[in-house]
Order: sequence, then structure tokens, then C-alpha cells
Amino acid sequence: MSCECSRPARHVIDQFLDALEHDPGSLVHQDWMEGHVLISSFMMQSAPAVAKILMAALPRYVSGDARKALLESLLYLSGGDSDELVAQCQEVIVRGAWIFLEEISSGRSVAGASYAFEILEALDEDEWVSMARSQFADFLPTELLAPDHR
Ligand SMILES: [Zn+2]
Repeated sequence: MSCECSRPARHVIDQFLDALEHDPGSLVHQDWMEGHVLISSFMMQSAPAVAKILMAALPRYVSGDARKALLESLLYLSGGDSDELVAQCQEVIVRGAWIFLEEISSGRSVAGASYAFEILEALDEDEWVSMARSQFADFLPTELLAPDHR
């Protein structure tokens, strides 16, 4: 499989994992998947494999910019126009749904909790979304809790 930029498929994830380890701040709010894994937010063939690697990396980075960058990236892979690749990504990410609820309930970081909440919303995990709303509202920004948020 080659990347959308025609380099070998693994180049983008190699770069991401390297930055995650050495310079995670450079990844936050950076659209590192665009042009490689996503094209104008449309998922490319590599997206489900990338989702798996990001999920596998989550337990290794429990806080800070690396955690934020991982959650942000997973949010991009959690929704979108409903095609086969989106469904495949969601299938991978939903297996770790408890991780996102834990992120919210921990109160470690509002940014982390926000990404986790939006991932649960994108996955249509309605029960857990309402649990987060009712039990862990203190750890979430008020704009996410507005009824018309989505
Ligand atoms: Zn590429």
C-alpha cells in the first residue's frame, strides 16, 4: 500500500510516532493526516490501519501533549460521511470506548475530556455520552454540554 502522497504507506505514521515520542507539542492542532490519511476530510485506504495504531499508542501516553494529539487525531477518524472506511475506523475505535469515558471521568485535562466526549458523540455511544453529561459535567466545558451542541 502506498500513501496518497505516493511515499510508502508507513511514512506518515512513522513520523507521527517519532514526534509523539520526541516533540509531541508539534502535533497538537496540526493536521498531520491531511494529504496522507485524509484528503479534504475524506478517509483514504490507510485510515483504519492508522486508527488501530493510534488506539494501540493511547495507553502509553497518559497525559500531556502526546495524549492530546492522539485524542485529537482519533476524533478526526471517528466520524465523517458514512462510507465503508469510516465504519471500519469506528469499529476499531469503539472497542476502546471505555478509555474515552475514563479520560472524561479522570478529570486530568479539560482538553482531553473534550476530545474524548466528542469521540463518544461521533461514535453514537449515546448511553456513555449521557453518563458523561450527568456524572462528569464538572470536567467538561459548558459549550459541549449545551443540548444543541452537535
Ligand atoms: Zn504521505
